[in-house]
Parts: sequence; structure tokens; C-alpha cells
Amino acid sequence: MTPTVPYIQDAFRRFNQRYFDNSLPEIPIRLSNAKGFLGKLTYSRKRSFWRTEQYSDFVLRINTRISLSEAELEDTIIHEMIHLYIAYHRLHDTSSHGVRFRTMMTAINRRDGRHISVTHRLSEAQRREAAGRERGRMVAVVVFEDGRTGVKVVPHRVSAMQGFEAACRRHFRIASLNWYYSRDYFFAQFPCSEAVRVYLMNSDESRTALQTALSASREIILGGKA
Ligand SMILES: [Zn+2]
Repeated sequence: MTPTVPYIQDAFRRFNQRYFDNSLPEIPIRLSNAKGFLGKLTYSRKRSFWRTEQYSDFVLRINTRISLSEAELEDTIIHEMIHLYIAYHRLHDTSSHGVRFRTMMTAINRRDGRHISVTHRLSEAQRREAAGRERGRMVAVVVFEDGRTGVKVVPHRVSAMQGFEAACRRHFRIASLNWYYSRDYFFAQFPCSEAVRVYLMNSDESRTALQTALSASREIILGGKA
């Protein structure tokens, strides 16, 4: 789901009551399109004359670039609310996700079966989504005479492609070799080089993933075959 400010405000109020005894101030909520985080609490620290530190200008930022389930979105909001609780009440913690943070987090997780975590890191799929379009890669899909299928990512130069194809046909008994230009993240896992190596798709899972990636790729007809 894509969160809206009113939705987040409403969730904030519910969780403020349920988990924080309504002790948190209502703070501005901003939607963010950044790549690096799901949620973020920002504030300024000011040193005043008689107090060690004053925290002010709290802002809660929630990412809208990445699609989260409702539960993931709620967990993200609560994670940031724990930061707010600790900062606003000027409680001491051993680190930014220290003993106090983890104690509160664990209590909330146990109470309502939530999955709040201390990591701000994105899952593989979320990073993929955040990265948007991948850079393009030149991909050879090799089908061997024995029926096996393999993949190789080759530098985006005609000479590299021709060299690889010629060497491949010399080294292996191949039924077909087709070229694709692809921005699919699937191909990011293969090293890009001119080496005569082919990565075999040994499982049904990898073959299905390859088909999915290829369906969104453009086939390239390589002229002047060596
Ligand atoms: Zn955090």
C-alpha cells in the first residue's frame, strides 16, 4: 500500500495511545521518495545554557518509493515512534538501537505479534524496487546440445560479444546462442566479463526466473557473426 499523510497520522495516534500512554507530541509527517530508508525520525539538537541538550523540530519521514504491506508500514511507524519516545523524554540508551530501544521493541512485538526490527536496511526486493531501473546488461543465453541452459553477461561491445560467441561455439557443443539487452535485476548476480564461462540454470526456480527476466528484455541480433 502507498501511505498518505492522514493514514500515517491516524496510525501514529492509535499507536501513541496503545504503546506510549499518549505521551508523544504530534509531529509533522512527511512523505519521502529517498532510496535508503523506510522510515526516519529527524530532529535538531541544541545545546542550551542550563541544560545539556534540547531536542526540537521533530519530523517523521515515511518512504513512499517502496511498497510495504500494511503490517510493514505499521512496524516502520512504530520503530520511529520508539526513537521519538526515547529522544523526546530524553532517556538514555546505550546506542541508537540500544538496550532501551530493544526492550521497548520486544515488548511491543510480543504484545501484538509484530515484527519490528532494529534494522533500517531494506530487503532484497525493496532495494530492487528502490533502485528503480537497473543499468542495461548484454546477456548471452546459451542452450547446449544436451538441453541445459546457461547465461553469461558480457561487456556491451560488439567485439566482446563476437569474441565470446566464437569462443563459446569452439569450446562447447551448443544448440543456440541468443543475445539480449536487459535491465532486469536478475542479471546483476552474474559477473560481467569476456571469460568463456556459462552459468547454468540448474533448478526449476532459476529457469523460471530467467524466463521472467527475458520476457522483459530485448533480443539483439548480432550482425557479422564470427
Ligand atoms: Zn532506528
